[in-house]
Amino acid sequence: MNPAERIAEALQSRRNVLLLNHVSPDGDCLGSTLALAHALWGRGQRATVGSSDGVPVMYRFLPGSDRVAGEIPAGETFDAVVFMECSSPDRAGALAARAAGVPLWVNIDHHLSNTGFGHLVLLDVNAGAVAEVAYPVVRTLHPSIDRDIATCLLTALLTDTGSFHYASVTPQSFLLAADLIRAGASPTAVYAEVYENRSAASLRLLGAALSGLAFAEGGRVAWTTVTQAMLRETGATMEESEGIVGTLRSIRGVQAALLFKEEAEGIRVSLRAQGGIRANVIAETFGGGGHAAAAGFTVRASLDEAVRRALGAVRQELAAAAHAHPGDAT
Ligand code: 5GP
Ligand code: MN
Repeated sequence: MNPAERIAEALQSRRNVLLLNHVSPDGDCLGSTLALAHALWGRGQRATVGSSDGVPVMYRFLPGSDRVAGEIPAGETFDAVVFMECSSPDRAGALAARAAGVPLWVNIDHHLSNTGFGHLVLLDVNAGAVAEVAYPVVRTLHPSIDRDIATCLLTALLTDTGSFHYASVTPQSFLLAADLIRAGASPTAVYAEVYENRSAASLRLLGAALSGLAFAEGGRVAWTTVTQAMLRETGATMEESEGIVGTLRSIRGVQAALLFKEEAEGIRVSLRAQGGIRANVIAETFGGGGHAAAAGFTVRASLDEAVRRALGAVRQELAAAAHAHPGDAT
């Protein structure tokens, strides 16, 4: 029995399964937890999808998203918990507390920074999306992949692979996409829901963020900020800042892009990298994590101080990369 089958077997006998998303959930995490939930529901099992930060508006088209719980009644108990894309349990946010005392912890992820916690671990750091990791579990539990499951998984795959163009994409990503499209998911519909359904306010926010664009390290680093004042002025929400940092990375010559977001708990930094720069290594120095190309962390300091510290860490990683690959340092 392989690890995915072992997890499926362990889950199929459970009375009530809790599926946890990470904080600020993205399409990959939500799509994969919902696919697993549909598989369990389809078998007649009880499962609760928990998301400490709820469901961003752009993902509310996902079948089952109306059943995602931001809070769980105190009396409800679970006999298994699945942490989806949580490199450590605390990544599940406030709802992580509900895993205390649950007898089976399952950890499904594709992040390099995963600590390997839990009783059953399914980790593939080479997967383009956690959907690829979760798929064999879903299919073992519920062999007939219906349109709802396929739509959830295709959304996960499409969003986490940058619509199939990131370096993390493998033949496996396309094979999964083929399975999902055959099962009834529509790439046209999913793409339109996620990327062509934007509010005018989110574009005003993008404009405001781009007008504050700054460079460092001779143009190899691009950064900007989203402050609470900018949200008030544009009418956008912080979740609508998703995508801005990717736009910065698309600038010619940029190896590291940073977006500094002013949040209640401090400055949230979204980091994107390429060309031998390891975003996860930078993020880990601040207690965060992620992938080589995309990572995040929080700095509990003023905006100016967070920028100063983060740019310092990026400078060190640029130097380390130049040292590792001297020919690339142009
Ligand atoms: P984003 O910048 O889009 O929020 O996150 C980029 C990637 O890094 C995602 O895969 C996300 O799960 C991961 N990530 C973001 N912030 C953190 C963090 O504070 N800790 C860990 N372990 N991973 C993070
Ligand atoms: Mn992912």
